[in-house]
Amino acid sequence: MNRLKKILDRKSFSKEDIITMLSLTSDHDIDLICKKANAVLLDHIGSGIYLRGLIEFSNICSCDCYYCGLRKSNKDFERYILKKNDIIAIAINAAKKGFASIVLQSGEIQNEKFTEFVADCVNKIKQITKSDSLPDGLGITLCCGEQSNDVYAKWFDAGAHRYLLRIESSDRKLFEKFHPPGQSYRSRYECLKSLKSIGYQTGTGVIIGLPGQTVDHLTEDIIFFRDMDIDMLGMGPYIHHNNTPLSDYKALWEKNRNDTFLMSMKMIAVSRIVLKDVNIAATTALDAIEVNGRELGVSFGANVLMPLLTPENHRAGYKLYEGKTIIDNIAEDTATFAQKMHEKFERIVIFDKWGDAPHYFNNKIGR
Ligand code: SAH
Repeated sequence: MNRLKKILDRKSFSKEDIITMLSLTSDHDIDLICKKANAVLLDHIGSGIYLRGLIEFSNICSCDCYYCGLRKSNKDFERYILKKNDIIAIAINAAKKGFASIVLQSGEIQNEKFTEFVADCVNKIKQITKSDSLPDGLGITLCCGEQSNDVYAKWFDAGAHRYLLRIESSDRKLFEKFHPPGQSYRSRYECLKSLKSIGYQTGTGVIIGLPGQTVDHLTEDIIFFRDMDIDMLGMGPYIHHNNTPLSDYKALWEKNRNDTFLMSMKMIAVSRIVLKDVNIAATTALDAIEVNGRELGVSFGANVLMPLLTPENHRAGYKLYEGKTIIDNIAEDTATFAQKMHEKFERIVIFDKWGDAPHYFNNKIGR
């Protein structure tokens, strides 16, 4: 398809170009965007895969998102928050294993006690994990939902330097369809602005395959990432959960499963082609709908993996959706995984380096 080749040769892309790329269905065309995404990755970042050990330290949540198993109205499971010393011990162990960065993720809790708790964890982890190979300690990404500017600033001052907050959908109407009236699109958007102005390397993302979502919505999502000048992306497929208001969509979800996975791959590749120097994660949800889903995500242009370091007895409790990874082979044996990535895709897993997105530094002037 000559038209596709012409599009792929461009440096910048129109809305129509993005729609065309996301609408491709033939193996041949999808292979072309996959190859292009890999070429862009090599040009702008390199072949390295960076690891962020994921610690899901609490499933307590004050939100009621219609797709999420942790929503506050789901009373069907036990809530937990890990002890500070346990979180710090996991982080120390991660650093010993060669992880240079961690993600501290939780449900959304907005109170002073939680703010202090997170600040103290971050502070202590930064101090304790300083070493010759990590002179500034572990790189810490936070993913604790919407907070005030002051809270974000406090956590930044404590030493967290990246923050993930998915916009979930950049279309206000679609956002409102999947969130209760108290949770507003505007407020999420303002949080992202606030994170950027504080100086965080800022990550966002969307859920792919939400009922009613179209190629046009996903195209606008990529344009949103570009216009918001985001540094990191974490997108994943929508996955059914039995105890949510979306449970009625189970049959439709099953029916669309393969298409949703393919669209997730296309979203990674096209985001890489359009955004170029941002970090893109191959998220855990990919593994829940396809064997080796994360690996395939990496092969389509992602460069970050988040192996699960949550203690085993709490993994089942952090159930965002059905079939979530509980045994994480990547976390258990990163060395074997690194070898596999090299043999299969000529990609190198990088230990002992934070692996920040070049985009943050390339665009910092003028922020
Ligand atoms: N409280 C934090 C972390 C939320 S969990 C925050 O608000 O950022 C991390 C992500 O899981 C969410 O942003 C959401 O996009 C995703 N998620 C939740 N339920 C899901 C589901 N059923 N299928 C796929 N992804 C889901």
